[in-house]
Amino acid sequence: MRKYIGGILILIILGYIYYSFNPDKSSIFPKCPFYLLTGLKCPGCGSQRATYYLLHFHFIEALKCNALMVISLPIVCILSYIELIRKRNPHLYAIAYKTKYIWAYLIIVIIWWICRNIFDL
Ligand SMILES: [Zn+2]
Repeated sequence: MRKYIGGILILIILGYIYYSFNPDKSSIFPKCPFYLLTGLKCPGCGSQRATYYLLHFHFIEALKCNALMVISLPIVCILSYIELIRKRNPHLYAIAYKTKYIWAYLIIVIIWWICRNIFDL
């Protein structure tokens, strides 16, 4: 558990920053280089604004900013927990981290990337 303290502290600090400052109105947040170069949204565009809205419990606004990120968060939490208990439960880890799931998620991300630029999502 001790080795995760640094990561947990970083999450707390980032959570405080994203809770305190609205990325729409603050210039302290980095802009997406892909969007700046191409004018097209990448799969992660809107994630900072979605995080801000999630921390304020505005789920619909968060979904409008980046639906894939919002929908993926529970999956990330579950996979992080499985990673934490990996040594105690290697069978669960082997099930959750199958290569075919990673490829399936990558395909979903690519479809999301294309669709959000075509349909302005
Ligand atoms: Zn982007």
